[in-house]
Amino acid sequence: MLDYHPSSDLLKNKVILVTGAGDGIGRQAALSFGAHGATVVLLGKTVKKLEAVYDELLAQGSPEPAIIPLDLQGATKQNYLDMTATLRQQFGRLDGVLFNAGQLGALGPFEMIGEDEWDKVMQVNVKSQMLMTQALLPLLKDSKPASIVYTSSGVGKRGRAYWGSYAISKFATEGMMQVLAAELADSGVRANCINPGATRTGMRARAYPAEAPSSLRTPAEIMGPYLYLMGDDSLSVNGQSIDAQGDRVAQTAQPRAQADSQ
Ligand code: NDP
Repeated sequence: MLDYHPSSDLLKNKVILVTGAGDGIGRQAALSFGAHGATVVLLGKTVKKLEAVYDELLAQGSPEPAIIPLDLQGATKQNYLDMTATLRQQFGRLDGVLFNAGQLGALGPFEMIGEDEWDKVMQVNVKSQMLMTQALLPLLKDSKPASIVYTSSGVGKRGRAYWGSYAISKFATEGMMQVLAAELADSGVRANCINPGATRTGMRARAYPAEAPSSLRTPAEIMGPYLYLMGDDSLSVNGQSIDAQGDRVAQTAQPRAQADSQ
């Protein structure tokens, strides 16, 4: 699916929200969605980064985006309801959401998972997505066909030593997608997961500090499956978990926790 290259108007007239849009894969997804005609709503924690993406979108000739500064760590149900009301008022529709923001948390032995650390990772990677999905669903249903894409990981499908809260949060993400997709069948709103696979970003560098970044695909190189799931070519796809880099051989580098223990 990496070689999916749709026409530049694939997402024309669609309004798409991207969480964690200021950096890494989310930044690139925002730019790619915009390049394919979408009006992108940029949600993230660091306003400066969101403003930079906003400027890049305008510079590349994309529709004028919007910015929602929000720290998912502290956001409440009311924040998501208010956000939905603003989107309804400003755009009158929402055709897609890419839940991309994520926290790696601390890697280390299961017995060392701290309660605070667990809560932080679960808050950003799981609970915020559940609350935001609940709030956005009425708007998405009114805008159907609509697409919800959650971001998973290889460690969200097969547990791996020392990946603690992060891996468990990604299993929860897969589960949330499956439950929701089953409920949404025939509703005109579809829900799927994407596992980007090893990708050259800040998070990847934190997890594998000894790895050569040049050995990894860039976010721009994995956009095919993101565009596919957001656009109308995937209308019949619901409840699936797609590996963006299904062709990539298994990672052999050791994550930080393992490397540190050697
Ligand atoms: P980055 O760390 O590069 O970017 C993460 C983004 O999420 C940043 O824009 C960050 O904002 C935002 N974010 C983090 N915490 C919060 C928060 N509390 N509130 C709002 N926004 C927040 O990560 P990647 O681009 O690498 O990862 C994107 C997704 O892909 C994640 O879900 C990750 O788990 C997943 N993934 C990545 C892989 C990879 O190899 N890169 C492999 C498998 C899965 P800010 O910059 O302002 O902190």
